[in-house]
Amino acid sequence: MITGATSGFGRALAIKFAQNGYNIIITGRRKERLDDVEKELSAYKVKVLSLNFDVRKRYEVEDAVAGIPDEWKNIDILVNNAGLNIRKPAIEVTQHDWDTVLDTNFKGVFFCAQAVAKEMIKRRYGRIINIGSCTCVFGMEGIVPYTAGRGGVLAMTRGLAVELGGYGITVNVLAPGWFKTALNAVLYENKQWVDYITSRIPLGRPGQPHDLDGTVVFLASDASGYITGQIILVDGGFTTGATKAIA
Ligand code: NDP
Repeated sequence: MITGATSGFGRALAIKFAQNGYNIIITGRRKERLDDVEKELSAYKVKVLSLNFDVRKRYEVEDAVAGIPDEWKNIDILVNNAGLNIRKPAIEVTQHDWDTVLDTNFKGVFFCAQAVAKEMIKRRYGRIINIGSCTCVFGMEGIVPYTAGRGGVLAMTRGLAVELGGYGITVNVLAPGWFKTALNAVLYENKQWVDYITSRIPLGRPGQPHDLDGTVVFLASDASGYITGQIILVDGGFTTGATKAIA
């Protein structure tokens, strides 16, 4: 099950899982985009179920997961990917901004994990992959509510890993660095910013959605069965700090 599969990473990951033969539940708020992605996935010989809900609304999450047909209830992997960002200086952040970001990126992650974990616990198996970001471990200007939510997701992941480990469920964070998607397309329109951010990435380029493939397949597979409560940064080395100490 991949939340926020109507665009960006979620869509790309759905295609990757389909290529690897997984049946997939895709979720999002935009019904027409869900239909488009479902159509795209029909190119692969896998089953697809679309669920239309808002991760900010706990009752919608619970109802959607509880209402999944029985043959789909054995969810092996949850990719908690739905998210958004609001960019502005911290002193201009309104309560509405704060609630929108945190309700989506933090509260939503928890209640999706909770709803799916209830099913995973019955089968004593599960892989929960929370999509984080370099802001799980790194400060950034102009997106303080986002960084707060991402730091929270890392802490939440560790807590859930401890609580769910006894049920054979692993919980980890996959933390992408800088990738061009709808979420941050506006930044990539500014060449100066692109040059700046690229200069801070040791591997010399922003990520492409396929750069996440290996890590997500690893975290979803039994190869990562003894890894839980961890964060894997897929960021081209951005969180090394990548500043020059030589003229
Ligand atoms: P996109 O904007 O392309 O995708 C965001 C997805 O989240 C959409 O499918 C959207 O679906 C869904 N979503 C947003 N709000 C809600 C909601 N309230 N309920 C349900 N679904 C929701 O962005 P990305 O693919 O870039 O982002 C995916 C994740 O990756 C996010 O969590 C983001 O924070 C994280 N990330 C992105 C990075 C990047 O560089 N792009 C870097 C690090 C992390 P819909 O609108 O249909 O509901």
